[in-house]
Amino acid sequence: MQEEDFDIRQRQTIKETEKDIEKALRPLEFDDFRGQENIIENLRIFVKAARMRGEALDHTLLHGPPGLGKTTLSNIVANELGVGFKVTSGPVLDKPGDLAGILMSLEEKDVLFIDEIHRLHPIVEEYLYSAMEDYRIDILLDKGPGARSVQLTIPPFTLIGATTRSGLLTSPLRARFGINCHLEYYDHKTLSEIVKRSARLLKVEIEEEAAMEIALRSRGTPRVANALLRRIRDFAMVKGDGSIKLGIARHSLEALNIDRYGLDEIDNRILLTIIDKFHGGPVGLSTIATALGEDPGTLEEVYEPFLIKEGFLKRTPRGREATHLAYSHLHRKEPNIPGNLFDEG
Ligand code: ADP
Repeated sequence: MQEEDFDIRQRQTIKETEKDIEKALRPLEFDDFRGQENIIENLRIFVKAARMRGEALDHTLLHGPPGLGKTTLSNIVANELGVGFKVTSGPVLDKPGDLAGILMSLEEKDVLFIDEIHRLHPIVEEYLYSAMEDYRIDILLDKGPGARSVQLTIPPFTLIGATTRSGLLTSPLRARFGINCHLEYYDHKTLSEIVKRSARLLKVEIEEEAAMEIALRSRGTPRVANALLRRIRDFAMVKGDGSIKLGIARHSLEALNIDRYGLDEIDNRILLTIIDKFHGGPVGLSTIATALGEDPGTLEEVYEPFLIKEGFLKRTPRGREATHLAYSHLHRKEPNIPGNLFDEG
């Protein structure tokens, strides 16, 4: 029992340090943020204009897969605006009172960041509408005959909402955001620059080729790249001289069982399901989701875009199909479809 407690505590400490490191690696200014050039260019202008007018920035929606920099970017926007930054998330705001509390704690022009905004409780969401539009919130005090409503005025503020599932946002909420940005997966070159920057901050030397090797296997995602860098740093310390060379990077990535294309476990399960259970497709998204026990929306918005972008999956009018690349990557033999036979004959 005691040992278990110790283990839990130790794991918690590890988790906390990982969080601290992630925080330390977060860029704080637009100039430090790599990639997403169009978004950055636009945000720079909107931030500058808001500052010139002395107003709060328009409410902003950031959407895209996890780990691409939504929280980081929101923090940067607050820094560049020179205002305070408060963080919360959809599932945490359980009741209208929670929202009222956090809104009342804001100072003029502050940024309120709501992560996973698609998971807001519908009642809380309704309260948010008037807060976003008129900077006021009506709160019902007490229940039953003694109930009364008070109107609270809040200082003008900027709401930055982040979501991995923009498809789940209600249209009234979506309509209240003046700025709407979709974050894309990062290319290898940008990711390798992010890896080199993080290595500098962590004070580890890294070879150009090693940074690129990490970038190639990071699923287009800075969070994954930084996590791999930290693990490889451990290997480099224990098995090498502390600096990250291509050899040690490759060795560590093998030892960590990292897919050479950067696919994660769910990516591979999706492809294997299509190939093994549905003869490579075409198969409908909800059928794949049921077979995997996953939510179809999550598959569509979180996993599929990367698989399609990298050429593992095709979206056809009849459903999803695994590509040649998916077969060869997973060491599966492609079925002999009549076209192939004909070609060979
Ligand atoms: P999200 O909120 O989209 O899940 P985060 O903003 O938490 O993603 O980013 C995850 C990690 O990736 C952060 O620690 C941050 O340091 C790093 N990161 C994300 N985008 C960039 C970027 N463009 N440049 C440098 N580091 C980045």
